[in-house]
Amino acid sequence: MVPRVVFGRGSFDQLGELIEPKRLNINAPFIFLVDDVFKLDGELTSRIPLAYNDRIIYVSAEEEPKTSQVDELVESIIVTSKERPSGIIGIGGGTILDLAKAVAIMLTNNGKSEDYQGWDLVKNKAVYHVGIPTISGTGSEVSRTTVLTGPKRKLGINSDYTPFDQVVLDPELTNGVPKDQWFYTGMDCFIHSVESLNGTYLNAFSKTYGEMAYGLCKEIYLNGGLPAKEAQDKLMMASWHGGMSIAYSQVGVAHAVSYGLSYLLGTKHGIGNCIVFNHLEEFYPKDVALFKTMIAKHDIQLPKGICSDLSESDLNIMIDVALGLGPLWENAVGKNWKKTITPKKLKELYLKM
Ligand code: NAD
Ligand code: ZN
Repeated sequence: MVPRVVFGRGSFDQLGELIEPKRLNINAPFIFLVDDVFKLDGELTSRIPLAYNDRIIYVSAEEEPKTSQVDELVESIIVTSKERPSGIIGIGGGTILDLAKAVAIMLTNNGKSEDYQGWDLVKNKAVYHVGIPTISGTGSEVSRTTVLTGPKRKLGINSDYTPFDQVVLDPELTNGVPKDQWFYTGMDCFIHSVESLNGTYLNAFSKTYGEMAYGLCKEIYLNGGLPAKEAQDKLMMASWHGGMSIAYSQVGVAHAVSYGLSYLLGTKHGIGNCIVFNHLEEFYPKDVALFKTMIAKHDIQLPKGICSDLSESDLNIMIDVALGLGPLWENAVGKNWKKTITPKKLKELYLKM
């Protein structure tokens, strides 16, 4: 679990006060990894509490994090800092938060980040790391994983050292999020709750969090009419609860299939999940119907035919990635999932998208 969290509009301004006690010495900087969407608008960056040799590294969120990108960032931080950093502070969406977690881990663990993709492979405690989401939905701010695309697979570094030491939840930071992105990333949260609540791994703990996230998403995306600030606050809470729910259970079919899309086509997580979920009536009938109502209500146009021109070998790459995610399928359909989830079935599904 994340041991420390502050929540509130404007709480970003407490950041200096929160991190200063964690400064090891003046040669051990805090490194702020910041989504480069904030580069032009100096408002947020002018509020970042820099001191001594602290510095900001702007990172593009155009592509999802890669293991090679993590390794390059770690190397550049090591060669440009006099001492190992006091902390890594990620400010952005799931892309930047995951990068911040992975960089913090790799500053204290040898080798390449791809060596740690999997479950409980990290040996040493990470550098102190702080997560500050600027868009709500992924639950990356609270989760025990950092999802990376490596040379062989798209898979998280899942470990007890992955979660942030401190999180700052300031809904005001989500002010500039474009509407489509608000929908896609918010739906990631909705889908987290659906996959957790309908999974075989469900337990009282994950159920409680999942129901809270599910209810909040319905309130925000279906009922409408919520004042904008309240909707921002609630979506940030939904994201947290959705993340907590899957931390104690697992995601399911939409995630397994969308990992294939993202591995081969670079489709981003939020929109990829939406494209897949739209065709999952067989697995989540009631919630796919709800999802279609939300799509219509917010006038979202999902891309179509994204797999129609793919070759047989490309389709097989995606199918292999999806089938490689055993725990997700086991959660979704049970221990005997291999009997029903066949390459043929996945091919048919991909061709519908
Ligand atoms: P993102 O971080 O990729 O950002 C999406 C877009 O929104 C980017 O263009 C970004 O610049 C922009 N943006 C972010 N905040 C903004 C703001 N306040 N104003 C204007 N624009 C803003 O999106 P995401 O959906 O949050 O994250 C997706 C990533 O999260 C994927 O890499 C996925 O694998 C990962 N993820 C991780 C977990 C986990 O548990 N670790 C869970 C789900 C998803
Ligand atoms: Zn997700």
